[in-house]
Amino acid sequence: MTKLKLATIWLSGCSGCHMSFLDTDEWLIDLAARVEVVYSPLVDAKVYPRDVDVALVEGAVANDDHLRMIGLVRARTKLLISFGDCAISGNATALRNPLGAPEALVRLIYAERADAHGQPPDAAGIVPALLGQVRPVHAVVPVDVYLPGCPPPAARIRAALEQLLAGEPVRLAGRDQLKFG
Ligand code: SF4
Repeated sequence: MTKLKLATIWLSGCSGCHMSFLDTDEWLIDLAARVEVVYSPLVDAKVYPRDVDVALVEGAVANDDHLRMIGLVRARTKLLISFGDCAISGNATALRNPLGAPEALVRLIYAERADAHGQPPDAAGIVPALLGQVRPVHAVVPVDVYLPGCPPPAARIRAALEQLLAGEPVRLAGRDQLKFG
């Protein structure tokens, strides 16, 4: 049986969506028999491969690295799932958007208001450059499926993946499967 090539991506998020994925518990054993996890924070793959069937993308696009990564993911993935509320709307990670330029915020938080030895992490190459605004994934690349929740409950993640494994389009309906938050 050909295994579905599955990737999971972690952009600007808290990893709670990935934790919820792991909360599918013993079903992961069934899943492992039917998918090949080709890229994920959960496996030791350094390069995003070509011809990925499905990618679960957690988090919004908040910095230069995310921007590069999501372009690569989109180009190399057949079905891109916006995984969780941060990916879909920006959610908690976009709370900085109304506060203006990120450089001023970083200076304020890491230097001016630091208790001791304040120093912004702004030396070249230390951290990726922040984008002016945090953007949901669909504002940067086309998205095929939206899987809401903060995080999406494990049962919802499982339902979506089971539909894909059955060769069906993902159809989420009703409060249990579509609720944000
Ligand atoms: Fe974390 Fe919620 Fe964002 Fe998922 S949607 S990354 S759980 S804050």
